[in-house]
Amino acid sequence: MDKDGKVRARFAPSPTGALHIGGAHTALFNWLWARRTGGTFILRIEDSDAERSTAGYEDTIMDGLRWLGLDWDEGPDKGGGYAPYRQSERMSVYRKYADELLEKGLAYRDDGAVIFKVPSGVSLLMRDAIYGDIKIQSEKASVSQDGSVKDIVIIKRDGMPTYNYAVVVDDHEMDINWVIRGEDHISNTPKQMLLYRAFGWDMPNFAHLPMILGKDKKKLSKRHGATSVFEYGDLGYLPDSIFNFLALLGWSPGGGAEIFDRNVASESFELSKVTKKPAVFDIDKLNFVNQEHLKIMDPAVKKKIIEPFWVKLGLSPEKHSDQYLMDALVLMGARGRTTRELAEFSDYFVSFAPVKARYDASEVGFEQREPLKKFFAAFMGIPNWDAEEMEAFARNWCRANGTPLKEIALPLRWAMTGRKVSPGIFEVVQLLGPDECQTRLKYYGFLE
Ligand code: GLU
Repeated sequence: MDKDGKVRARFAPSPTGALHIGGAHTALFNWLWARRTGGTFILRIEDSDAERSTAGYEDTIMDGLRWLGLDWDEGPDKGGGYAPYRQSERMSVYRKYADELLEKGLAYRDDGAVIFKVPSGVSLLMRDAIYGDIKIQSEKASVSQDGSVKDIVIIKRDGMPTYNYAVVVDDHEMDINWVIRGEDHISNTPKQMLLYRAFGWDMPNFAHLPMILGKDKKKLSKRHGATSVFEYGDLGYLPDSIFNFLALLGWSPGGGAEIFDRNVASESFELSKVTKKPAVFDIDKLNFVNQEHLKIMDPAVKKKIIEPFWVKLGLSPEKHSDQYLMDALVLMGARGRTTRELAEFSDYFVSFAPVKARYDASEVGFEQREPLKKFFAAFMGIPNWDAEEMEAFARNWCRANGTPLKEIALPLRWAMTGRKVSPGIFEVVQLLGPDECQTRLKYYGFLE
């Protein structure tokens, strides 16, 4: 704990790529723990690998965190009491502590590098909040391929600190008391513990998060599809859904609740409840979570989110009023698992072009056209442009003319939507309005 006994947790990405699912998962659990405990969430950029790190990726990672709603209290853009928050700006600190180890005789120079001497006969007990206690002997903390003890490089020949060293110095200097990160770092932890010990520093609490697997039970990777959070955004997943879904990878609020928002999650989160069992990234589950979030979304917000997807489909939502577009989305109900699907499924409300592209009425024969024309001529004259009245009118007309209702309703649905399935067709017609309905019927020759 820091001086006030508060949690200080950090997300420490290397800016060598966009914010991917694994990174977002780690950031999210740190954020949850800091928010749950009223602590501080820190963003630290681990850019000591100068060749692979770029400022562009640093921005993308920050944008990704913002998109997910994971705000940080200290960081390179925000500053804070422990600045600077970029490793590349902390070189003098790494040098100072390396000198300290050299002076104490705990490290030596070799070929320009500074190397920490792994002590022998030290028992390390790693207390992991998720994995439990892990005991390891110092001789096993860092080994070469042949099994012999391998001293730990802390400053490379080019003067740059190594990850295992810089992370210890930074976490100590920044009063980090919770290190929450992916399980792939478990094997690094004993090396880091040896360094804490050499400096005589208190160790932080460790919590390693479960591995994320693809559905084939192999470690999640590019082979499994989209990797960056923004790719999921482009595919039509809401930030709320990605947040919810990532939180479910290793944790759940209990009571079978699966759909929740940031507030509920940050009020009920418990690190001790996180499982070490590998979590499976199941796209069907993500689709379900996304659909549930779409269902409960306010229509005005939904409209704002769907609009760019309509535009991407080449449609012009700006030609319509906000109210009309919102009404269309309300009518769509729970259709569409993603915003992209919902935009596709509702394209006919925005414009006629996609309907024409999908449907040419060639299956409607001559003998079917005559009754259709008769029906629609009468239909267009109904006094109130109201779905219930339209339906009553259609039923009465069909009864009187010995025509099955579906012989009217099916071509009508195709002409309005270019699809086999849609919300109630008379409600669709009502919303499209008489002019648009007339245009579409005439185009298909269902109305003179
Ligand atoms: N930069 C490291 C990574 O991205 C941080 C690991 C850690 O949290 O210690 O994996």
